[in-house]
Amino acid sequence: MTERRFDPTRGEWVTFATHRQNRTYKPADYCPLCPTRPGEEPTEIPYPSFEVATFDNRFPSFSPRPPAPAVEGSALYPVAPASGRCEVVVYSDDHDATFADLELERVRMIVDVWADRSAILGDDPAIAYVMPFENKGETVGTTLSHPHGQIYGYPDIPPLPLRELDAALEHRRRTGSCVHCDVVAAEVADGRRVVAEQGRLVAWVPFWARFPYEVHIAPRPHRPTLPGLDDAERDDLASLLSVVARAYDQLWGFSLPYVMAFHQRPSDGDDGWEPVSHLHAELCPPNRAADRLKYLAGSELAGGAFVTDVAPEAAASALRDAIRRGR
Ligand SMILES: [Zn+2]
Ligand SMILES: [Zn+2]
Repeated sequence: MTERRFDPTRGEWVTFATHRQNRTYKPADYCPLCPTRPGEEPTEIPYPSFEVATFDNRFPSFSPRPPAPAVEGSALYPVAPASGRCEVVVYSDDHDATFADLELERVRMIVDVWADRSAILGDDPAIAYVMPFENKGETVGTTLSHPHGQIYGYPDIPPLPLRELDAALEHRRRTGSCVHCDVVAAEVADGRRVVAEQGRLVAWVPFWARFPYEVHIAPRPHRPTLPGLDDAERDDLASLLSVVARAYDQLWGFSLPYVMAFHQRPSDGDDGWEPVSHLHAELCPPNRAADRLKYLAGSELAGGAFVTDVAPEAAASALRDAIRRGR
């Protein structure tokens, strides 16, 4: 069963992909993302070595030719096929590497892959929103430890980016400017929450961080999409992503899990999004201390109201120290 069901009480689609229950789960001695070595069982990647590889997810939540929904919809409960794309981006042929271990040149190559795939998937009229992301570590549900991320091409704008866009539209109506341009300028001027700066890009802990060590990365100039970054800005982005990933590992001396995702302009063809879409990466580690996780519980899960244990200014200062220690 692969289908989307509409929740009329929240105005949101929920996707069902029950075939994903049988996807490869922490295989003991076989890694489908490793290169195919001569004489060994073929993997997803038919080469003995590679730099960055990208291909369609074998267990997709969204696909270009989805089956018809198994259940019949109604006026109250609309249903839709799960159309879209799910791609895998393998960062390296080294099974034991992590994003933080990669050479800057390789991270830069991955930035280009995200940008190119965002442009290509975004051109598909069936796709309204392209979101590259990475789930790193077992704590955030990664089933394969080989360093990789994913790119989802959604058939509509997912709820969180849509909320950001609505808030940005409201801010623009009130002030005439892009809320993200205003936020980045305010953070640079203040400095207390800035983790690192590189060229035209900035990494900072948000004033309103929901996760204790949450970091956002964005360009200071208004750039709506990954493909819209020029070469110098892509260099800056690669550099900051690498700096932040390494600072996370330096923080407590172990490879810190996180969810990293990019929010960018929807690709649904609506020109109205351009002035309120400001590309940014959001990195959210689940830890609030070396040995303690921030669980999403009653207030966060049921109320959507986050309660955070660490002051964003203290988190930024700890991350700046981690960068200094790592040099
Ligand atoms: Zn592997
Ligand atoms: Zn902006």
